[in-house]
Amino acid sequence: MSTSGLRLVWVYPDLLSTYGDQGNVLVVERRAQQRGLRVERVDVRSDQPLPTSGDIYLIGGGEDRPQRLAAERLLRDGGLTRAVENGAIIFSVCAGYQIIGHEFINDLGERQQGLGLLDVISERGTGARCVGDVLGDIDPQLGLPQLTGFENHQGITRIGPAARPLAQVRLGNGNGTGDGTEGAWNGTVFGTYMHGPVLARNPQIADLLVKLTLDVNALPPVDDRWYEALRTERIAAATAPA
Ligand code: GLN
Repeated sequence: MSTSGLRLVWVYPDLLSTYGDQGNVLVVERRAQQRGLRVERVDVRSDQPLPTSGDIYLIGGGEDRPQRLAAERLLRDGGLTRAVENGAIIFSVCAGYQIIGHEFINDLGERQQGLGLLDVISERGTGARCVGDVLGDIDPQLGLPQLTGFENHQGITRIGPAARPLAQVRLGNGNGTGDGTEGAWNGTVFGTYMHGPVLARNPQIADLLVKLTLDVNALPPVDDRWYEALRTERIAAATAPA
């Protein structure tokens, strides 16, 4: 982290920001500020160069065509790859998750190269679109409470040996490969199918990103009552009998 504070980069809000994903930026910003950190937030549109000196890069979901455009521009730009080489943290959602993998199927039905920052490959699922609430158990290595989120995707994602599932679903589809996995992570790079926005529903994940930035194991507690109320409501809604 630089002396100017925690540098938070919101990648391509003009192309990748569906289902409230912008809330993820607000949550990380707020929770870092509550810990007394100065936060410099940079929103980078797809016609601008991506700074390589960010601490945390957040990438949202998107429809199929904006997803193709975003992947093309990110590959051409190269900044995200350099940022990860510098130790930056990436937290990506849905289309963003597919883009940072090796490849995905684009809106033209073609295989499209991703950034290869996470060992996952996405295909187009042949079954029904995965839509709805999700509950899952997060990888015990991360020491986080139950995952709650909302998914809406046609793509399905397979995890390679250099990444681990972010969670195992109890409800919903997650990666959609039938193995119960949801999302993937490796080191400082995270991907998930969860919208919602996921960090408002799982503030402990936002705290994990801040802890990784500071290289600390714990942060001072903050008032989590609002988040807990939201979590309780969403978990109850997800598990209520139809
Ligand atoms: N277009 C991608 C899919 O359907 C991502 C969708 C999204 O980001 N919500 O799989």
